[in-house]
Parts: sequence; structure tokens; C-alpha cells
Amino acid sequence: MTDVHTREQRSYNMSRIKGKDTKPELIVRSLVHQMGLRFRLHRKDLPGKPDIVLPRHNKIIFVHGCFWHMHRCRYGRVKPKTNAEFWQEKREGNVARDRRNLKALRADGWQVLVIWECWVREPEKKVVGRLEKFLLENL
Ligand SMILES: [Zn+2]
Repeated sequence: MTDVHTREQRSYNMSRIKGKDTKPELIVRSLVHQMGLRFRLHRKDLPGKPDIVLPRHNKIIFVHGCFWHMHRCRYGRVKPKTNAEFWQEKREGNVARDRRNLKALRADGWQVLVIWECWVREPEKKVVGRLEKFLLENL
């Protein structure tokens, strides 16, 4: 496969992929909503600006893109053909930051669930059960 994207284009695409309100996030949000739970979005005052926050239950959900957060799946192992080193460093930085954020949040008494983008491809199989377990237990 030839790489038809210019560097500028690719960088734009990458930033779009990383951006807020991505499709997987919208899907997870709507699942939480269907469970009748209220939540807030992108709380900037919390480490990592969590995607979904349920303040009353001290629960937080991150929806992580597999590429950006280096999930151990085939999407997380993708190696970009251009600027490989740059993206690798960036992704490793993300992972290190995720780890720090998670630690800080847990230390503050938050329960944290990470939903991976690739799971959202099969929500019934991989997301619904996890959400129910995480959200509906110990309410
Ligand atoms: Zn994945």
C-alpha cells in the first residue's frame, strides 16, 4: 500500500483521531446514559481530563484509543511508516502519563475503568458487561 498522505495531512488525521468526542467515546457515553446514570464530561480539574465522570459514585471512565495509548492489541501495535520515532515517543509519553493519572486518581479515592477503542467495535460482547459490573456494583 502506498502512502498517499502528506505529512501535514497525516498529522491532521492523527490529531482528529486523538480529539474529543470520538465515535468510541460517544458509544460508551450512550451506553452509560442507557443505564440511567448521570455523568460529566472531560473534567479539566482531574488528572487526565477523564472522558466520563460520575461524581456521586466516585467513578471515572476513560475511553482510550488503542494506537495512542498503546493497547496490547493489533491496533495498538501499528507502526506508522513516517515519523515513526516521533510517534513512538509521543505514545510512550501518553502511556507514562496515563499511569501517573491513574495512580493519582486512585489515591484520591476514584474508581477508574478504562475502555479500549477496539472493545467498542463489539460493544455487546466487550463493553456492556464491563460497564454494568463497574457502574452498577456498590452504588
Ligand atoms: Zn485495542
